[in-house]
Amino acid sequence: MDISRRTFMEKTTTFCLKTGLSVIFLSTTSAQTFATSATAKEKKGGGVGLLFEPAYLKLHRTGELGERAETLWAAMENCELCPRSCGVNRLEGEEGFCHAPGTALIVSAFHPHFGEERPLVGDHGSGTVFLTHCNLRCVFCQNWEISHLGRGAEKSIDELAAIMLKLQDAGCHNINIVTPTHYSAHILKAVDRAAGAGLRLPIVYNTSGWERQEILEALDGVVDIYLPDFKYWESDMSAQYSSDAATYPEITRQAILEMHRQVGVAKPAYNGYMQRGVMIRHLVMPNDISGSEKIMEWIADNLPKDTYINIMAQYSPLFKAFEYPNLARRITREEYVRVVEKARDLGLENLDIQGYWWLR
Ligand code: SF4
Repeated sequence: MDISRRTFMEKTTTFCLKTGLSVIFLSTTSAQTFATSATAKEKKGGGVGLLFEPAYLKLHRTGELGERAETLWAAMENCELCPRSCGVNRLEGEEGFCHAPGTALIVSAFHPHFGEERPLVGDHGSGTVFLTHCNLRCVFCQNWEISHLGRGAEKSIDELAAIMLKLQDAGCHNINIVTPTHYSAHILKAVDRAAGAGLRLPIVYNTSGWERQEILEALDGVVDIYLPDFKYWESDMSAQYSSDAATYPEITRQAILEMHRQVGVAKPAYNGYMQRGVMIRHLVMPNDISGSEKIMEWIADNLPKDTYINIMAQYSPLFKAFEYPNLARRITREEYVRVVEKARDLGLENLDIQGYWWLR
């Protein structure tokens, strides 16, 4: 059964309160810097295999991770961290389309997340960090308070590194950074510092998929698991519902190919936990706004047949969706099943098919 991210955040809060787990909604909590070791986490059952080494460790050891972080940081002077290419000087505090406030990092929440894909959740949750603001700003956003309003609290790079370590210590199986694009420089700096303090979990780059090739190249060897959306096939749809992002389909296609080049097909390790690869998310939308069958065809033609695809059924008209008649309802069972059958007919064999019994 699928449940929205918002619902899971609420459930997780309740869970943490009931169990006494000390993790976090951190808009008001100051994270403490501390170090932990992979061995300690493994004893706790977090699930990192003994032979697993996250991609970023090699770059950390050579110093290249820090250098890449500085390169991305400098790119904020004339910001081109995402396809909007606003050109604003974030180093001087300017805001571009995403409204990320200069170089400040705003974190909304972090916690073990049990609503992500099963191989990411495992037994102890995906260590999810929700970052504020967004460069896409969809009219149907389910996290609009975070992405559009930017609700959260400012954190330093050291505090973000401490959050990663805290999630590792809580037994999470990965560090899952949600909406990372406009904070990519901050993330690399934090991973570099956390790696030096014992971080050993795979990094999940949980993105809209609308990523520039040049930025993805800077992430090569840093990110272990790419978790991109593939939202639209038609550019007039992405332009209409995602703030004039007409380039979304073409740029996302190229981005997913680059992600696949870097980390390949996502396959769980012996213990069932995902450690590396591309996991595509596709949200089926009403009235075929997302162009789902075309997207399945493209994946079948351009990526291995065992590419992991989460075909999501949870679309719900939130935020401004009711202002758009084609968006103002849930999908039907027929709409969802049609996409699944298309994917199967195409030979796609690694489908994450959610329970959809509740669809009418
Ligand atoms: S990250 Fe933000 S400021 Fe930079 S180009 Fe994208 S939207 Fe503009």
